[in-house]
Amino acid sequence: MPGGLNAASKRQGRKIRRSLSILICFVLLLSGGKLLLKQADLNLADYKPLIELVNINLLGRVNTEAALLNGKQDKDWNLILVNHWNYIPDDYQMVLVRLANGESVDARIYPDLLAMFNAARAHGVDPVVVSGYRSPEEQKSLMMKKINEYQTQGYSAVEAQALAEKWVALPGTSEHQLGMAVDINPARDQAKADQLYEWLNHNSYKYGFILRYPAEKTEITGTIYEPWHYRYVGKEAAAEIYARGLCLEEYLEELAASKSSYN
Ligand SMILES: [Zn+2]
Repeated sequence: MPGGLNAASKRQGRKIRRSLSILICFVLLLSGGKLLLKQADLNLADYKPLIELVNINLLGRVNTEAALLNGKQDKDWNLILVNHWNYIPDDYQMVLVRLANGESVDARIYPDLLAMFNAARAHGVDPVVVSGYRSPEEQKSLMMKKINEYQTQGYSAVEAQALAEKWVALPGTSEHQLGMAVDINPARDQAKADQLYEWLNHNSYKYGFILRYPAEKTEITGTIYEPWHYRYVGKEAAAEIYARGLCLEEYLEELAASKSSYN
């Protein structure tokens, strides 16, 4: 019967269309999911490092971003140990803020850094951050520059490398790659360097910073005395490190020992 055949083929057509639309929905759902996943990956990658141009007026905004990241990291974020023997983790992330002179630091240390600099200025010393955050590439090129310097002085490649490592941290072992270390110089008058370093040495702890490489601790820190290099560790740790004349390695070792004796 032609009519019956027609109705049957119409029914089949509807069936195929329905199956097709279900299939299309399914494909859309799948690709939609994939798209979302891609976007999430992209955001995560973009976050490292996110550099924001800031000044004091924008501090509120910086704090919001830093707080976002804080939630992802443990409370001891400022006690991370990076030295000759301890590399920065590959997945380390931070939010950076750019200072007026183009240097960058971890956004979380910015308010205390600013307070310290303001206090220093009030005491007649005018500090400037000459080196803050360094990317792995920047650290690598610093090392290459130093090696070249020694080679042009006539040292062999091996000797030049060994000498350079006394002055420049191997890429991956520099605190500058954390964004929590700053090299501080007098802003204008180099003759005021001693006065500045004296003030920083005895006051930086109030703002959570420590003289990271004291002259009498080079064996433990693995780094020569650097009066200009300050590291943020937070006010509590900085106060104890200063009061007891420790270096960060000693402080962290004691902290770990006291924690394990509680367990
Ligand atoms: Zn430094």
